Amino acid sequence: MSTREAQRVARFGTTVFSEFSALARAANAVNLGQGFPDFDGPDEIKQAAIDAIRGGVNQYAITTGAAALRKAVAEHAARFYGQKVDPDAEVSVASGATEVIFDAVMALVNPGDDVVVFEPFYDSYVASVEMAGGRCRYVRLKAPTWRFDEAELAAAFTDRTKLVIVNTPHNPTGKCFTRDELELIGRLAAEHDAVILSDEVYEHLVYAPARHLRPATIPSLAPRTLTVSSGGKSFSFTGWKIGWALGPADLVKATQKAHQFVTFATASPFQEAIAKALLLPDSYFTGFEQLYRAKRDFLIEGLKAAGFEPYTPQGTYFVVADAGRHAKADDFETCRWLTREVGVAAIPPSAFYSAEHKAEAKRLVRFAFCKGDATLAEAVQRLKRLA
Ligand code: PMP
Ligand code: GLN
Repeated sequence: MSTREAQRVARFGTTVFSEFSALARAANAVNLGQGFPDFDGPDEIKQAAIDAIRGGVNQYAITTGAAALRKAVAEHAARFYGQKVDPDAEVSVASGATEVIFDAVMALVNPGDDVVVFEPFYDSYVASVEMAGGRCRYVRLKAPTWRFDEAELAAAFTDRTKLVIVNTPHNPTGKCFTRDELELIGRLAAEHDAVILSDEVYEHLVYAPARHLRPATIPSLAPRTLTVSSGGKSFSFTGWKIGWALGPADLVKATQKAHQFVTFATASPFQEAIAKALLLPDSYFTGFEQLYRAKRDFLIEGLKAAGFEPYTPQGTYFVVADAGRHAKADDFETCRWLTREVGVAAIPPSAFYSAEHKAEAKRLVRFAFCKGDATLAEAVQRLKRLA
């Protein structure tokens, strides 16, 4: 730790994603760790970005987001969720979901406020809350169903609760929150006058019969829910970093106030391209889910054959598995061994748990299946040597 750095970053290490991608490169391992596809999204969407650059869309975008993208976000919300969204007052664009989440947390959480976070969590939530001076109150999702305990949730709410962060479909477990669960969260949020931040970046990666229920479509939750999504997962362009928030005008406005001074505006040509992507026909989205269902099933079979005990995800492009007889002293050791010795990189899920609950992830490993068929086949072949 450098004595020159401020307290708000002093506790942060290198993210588990950077650590394991570097380890994967060094070990020449197949990288099923960090969640990014090894293929690109649709050619026509790439072309739209090229056209925007060639067509002179190269200066600062409007701080709230390019008009075409805000309109496309509203149209997408109407098409898939029946929502009526005002693209001028109820949508805000930022540089990826990660930035919108940071902006929203900065905009809504005061020092000393409490934030309810489900565990395991996407790592940026806790970092954002801590940078805002807030405190996380954790609620565990428990294997194998990843349901939470009602009493534990109720106990996580305090008279300082300002925000509840929900992620559905959920990274890393793949859980899709049910209506009952969301209504319960909504009731407690209402009792404490808390805002719900719903991270839905995997909204288009859900495997039937599971379905994605957008919390903001539940009438009792709508007035207090800020929905976040991005183009990275749905269109396989994680490097473009185009994200957005939609919801009640006051919440969107507050988020924008922070965004103005974090990045001011987001990459303009990519906004035009993602606007086109959101308007792709239904067949794109159904084809996308079919593609991923086949990848999920292939990896799950391979993991079972290699002696792992995977939990079948309802959504996302991740599968969490119990390491079974391959479990080492803890999940970091198991994942380092997998990367170095077996040649398949994976993420240790304890990185998504608070210090007090890390032990729950000791035997777990997270694999990403957002990879081409040849990459997945190579990974499975390497894993099967363990059998
Ligand atoms: N939320 C979750 C649950 C994620 O897994 C990720 C990872 N990409 C993000 C947010 C960040 O999305 P973006 O790349 O758009 O910042
Ligand atoms: N969301 C991706 C994952 O969970 C990676 C995001 C990142 O690298 N920060 O693997």
